[in-house]
Amino acid sequence: MFSLVGVRGGSHPGDDREVFSKVLIANRGEIAVRVIRACREMGVATVAIYSDLDRDALHTRLADEAYPLGGQTAAESYLDTEAILSAIERSKADAVHPGYGFFSENANFARAVTDRGVTFIGPPPEAIEVMGDKISARLAAERVGVHGVPGTTDFITDPEQVRTFGIEHGYPIAIKAAYGGGGRGMKVVADETAIEDAIESAQREATAYFARDEIYMEKYLTAPRHIEIQVLADTHGNAVYLGERDCSAQRRHQKLIEEAPAPNLSDEVRSAMGEAAVAVALGCGYTNAGTVEFLYEDGDFHYLEMNTRLQVEHPVTELVTGLDLVEQQLRIASGEPLDFTQGDVRISGHAIEVRINAEDPAGGAFLPSPGRIDSLRVPDGFGVRFDGGYEAGDEISQYYDNLIGKLVIWGRNRDVAIRRTLRALADFEICGVATTIPADIAILGHPDFAAATHSTKWVEETLDLSDVSTDPDSSTTRDNEVLTARRDISVEVDGRRFAVSMWIPESAESVSPAARTRTKRTLRGGGGSGSGRVTVPMQGTIAKVLVAVGDQVDTGETVCVLEAMKMENNVAADKAGTVSEVLVVAGDSVGAGDVVIVIE
Ligand code: ADP
Repeated sequence: MFSLVGVRGGSHPGDDREVFSKVLIANRGEIAVRVIRACREMGVATVAIYSDLDRDALHTRLADEAYPLGGQTAAESYLDTEAILSAIERSKADAVHPGYGFFSENANFARAVTDRGVTFIGPPPEAIEVMGDKISARLAAERVGVHGVPGTTDFITDPEQVRTFGIEHGYPIAIKAAYGGGGRGMKVVADETAIEDAIESAQREATAYFARDEIYMEKYLTAPRHIEIQVLADTHGNAVYLGERDCSAQRRHQKLIEEAPAPNLSDEVRSAMGEAAVAVALGCGYTNAGTVEFLYEDGDFHYLEMNTRLQVEHPVTELVTGLDLVEQQLRIASGEPLDFTQGDVRISGHAIEVRINAEDPAGGAFLPSPGRIDSLRVPDGFGVRFDGGYEAGDEISQYYDNLIGKLVIWGRNRDVAIRRTLRALADFEICGVATTIPADIAILGHPDFAAATHSTKWVEETLDLSDVSTDPDSSTTRDNEVLTARRDISVEVDGRRFAVSMWIPESAESVSPAARTRTKRTLRGGGGSGSGRVTVPMQGTIAKVLVAVGDQVDTGETVCVLEAMKMENNVAADKAGTVSEVLVVAGDSVGAGDVVIVIE
């Protein structure tokens, strides 16, 4: 896409031979689409797999062949090993790309694939295993002289261990689930009095989510930046780092915006982190693309973990290096050596990735907003790339990750890239679901972001999203809102053409069935303001109940936590009073509009 390519290239020794003949993509959404595109450019046939809900999804439509898995939920479909293995067999694919999430970091799946003589496009299962739990990952890094946040590699069996650690290192302390992930199973201990509670709750969460209750501790950094290094390692012992990415704009320990290179970082630190990442990769026999994550604070960097897969945010590295990482993954997996060395890697300009999720960021709540995309127009122009998983008419299902797509922008420097991203976001048009775009605009337009003084806590602790509202053209309705349809027309005023958009109330007849359902769901989700019958706004699982019969609650107080679309959502009391009924327990499945708590 860009001429500022820093790496040699074009002379792959394997150019004349076939890398693979057919790749099955064991994933869905934007990453499946991303992999299909790279395969097509390389002349490799593609195979999609799909759940019942994804029968007409973009990745299913784009692939050369597609095989049904059946089922709706991830467990019934994209996590059904037998169904996927059967599709591999039937399609005669000779390689499998796992994308990210699902089975991408599952050593058993990688083994099941390779046992059939099919190539797994990723690292060896042994490396996945080493990096699979936080303690062995930490030990693996320490063996090559790379250190994590000050902490221990012993499991906590006695609160006294935490007390002793506190005396030596001070507070706050993070208690972390050894088998945790996705920001879960981590509790912060502010002082000595909170130790017992934190241990208990970290263990409870770890057991609930990961069926393992081992926990350990490390110092909790109060304002770190999240900086990660992209690594590529081939099967001939060559490994390089492709610069870093800054992913400090997060909510709930999940990334919102990523950029490359990381601003305000000295070249010394940059190369020290790169060398540390390569050492960690080589130390565990790693091959293929991987990412080593660090927390950076006060000039020091601390190893966090290694992600043994392609990351969501890999495109920012592609734009500043000129390398197609998926192509590199296929070449490495087929046994080709890297055709460039560390000295060839040049970083050109600046890239920013904005994740566009179907979430309503109003008030900082980031409430999932599944539904049908009624219309979608993505921006273009110089330096603009969109990696999407959906088109207009497609449905964002509540069962899967709600990432609609990623807007990835290149500029010759950070300032240009920020301005270009804001321009492109202003051009982005999507109707039917609420998106994170208003929050992304608030972040990119903030002076703290411009100065790059933000930490991983900044979005939640400093950024004010109280005024942020969803797009007016979004047909995601709230109580008392009327569904509107957008009409675009052009008018001439004084000989000049102006584009005009109008939002016209839709008549009941013209509302699509999907929109009608959505209206009903959202209206019911509102639960009748102040009725005391607290309902959940969408289908999901109750993660936690925070009140009991007889408790006094205030309006707006969280009464239970609903897990839906891979996120936890606080369900709040709609009036003040006494809890008279608790109709759910943790683990219960609930549907949109179900009453969970009654307040009198
Ligand atoms: P997970 O595997 O659940 O994603 P990580 O260990 O990778 O957990 O951490 C995820 C995020 O949690 C980090 O990006 C950071 O924001 C925060 N975090 C983790 N450990 C610490 C720590 N010791 N101090 C401060 N923040 C932390």
